Amino acid sequence: MSVPDLVSRARAGDARAVARLISFVEDESPVLREVMAELSPYAGRAQVVGITGSPGVGKSTSTNALVTELRKAGKRVGVLAVDPSSPFSGGALLGDRVRMQEHALDPDVYIRSMASRGHLGGLAWTTPQALRVLDAAGFDVILVETVGVGQSEVEIAALADTTLVLLAPGMGDGIQAAKAGILEIGDLYVVNKADRDGADQVRRDLRSMLALAQRREGAWKPSIVATVAAKGEGLDEVAAEIERHFAWLTETGELALRRTRRARDEIEAIAVTALRARWGDVHGRSELDDLAAAVVAGESDPYAAADTLLDQL
Ligand code: GDP
Repeated sequence: MSVPDLVSRARAGDARAVARLISFVEDESPVLREVMAELSPYAGRAQVVGITGSPGVGKSTSTNALVTELRKAGKRVGVLAVDPSSPFSGGALLGDRVRMQEHALDPDVYIRSMASRGHLGGLAWTTPQALRVLDAAGFDVILVETVGVGQSEVEIAALADTTLVLLAPGMGDGIQAAKAGILEIGDLYVVNKADRDGADQVRRDLRSMLALAQRREGAWKPSIVATVAAKGEGLDEVAAEIERHFAWLTETGELALRRTRRARDEIEAIAVTALRARWGDVHGRSELDDLAAAVVAGESDPYAAADTLLDQL
């Protein structure tokens, strides 16, 4: 099937066509360039919502419940579960199946896990392209959830229009919040497991930590919502806050700013990857390796070597 065919099928709601297109991204297929060109007129309509938080805090459960809530509002929802810590997507498959059960028969929900395969730049490269597929396919809201641990919180925030940070009692999240820098990235803080002891304390701690954070004049003031995701409680409020944030982004022009910043990062990541590939291809041996050897041998210095490299372009 040709790329334009796949794209029009994906836009018509064919989940298998969407899956094929995302596989092109994962596999770094040579047709990816054509896919992206074909998709570009349709991009920019979806609201991308990043969902982050420590493992066990309730991300999967909350994502699932949020999908239910967004469906009630008639929205088409895409879910991308990204595992930046794993080069394999196999580990995330079980999660997929568990989640799929509730929304499996709904043609207006598409759920997919994706490994970022240890690309140079990790999330910077593959995730935005998978998001573009879902966006162009006509999903109104795309939830991006990080599976696994690491620095992914901050990375996911850079990709999203709206970032949800999940916390829960009994996880030492107060300290974790400060450590991972998540106090700067959240547009909405969700204290999940509100049915457990200590949830109020997490909320109070969070409120005072957020109050101390420096914010620009006119900046969005993040709200805190308590949920019991396991029972679907509070998710209506989460959905409402997500919508309120999107309206704010649109009205203030912040949406365009964030998206331009994101596109810049993406272009840069692609260009750097292309440059690296080019340097590696000179006479089958890396030009960069030769120059490095010359610097180590004292025959050149790093500035001169960098100039040589740039001169070759
Ligand atoms: P993730 O690792 O962040 O994706 O977390 P999960 O969604 O897999 O949830 C971790 C555990 O917390 C599971 O056993 C859930 O059933 C449980 N859980 C999720 N939400 C709630 C909640 O609101 N209250 C309680 N008590 N447990 C919850």
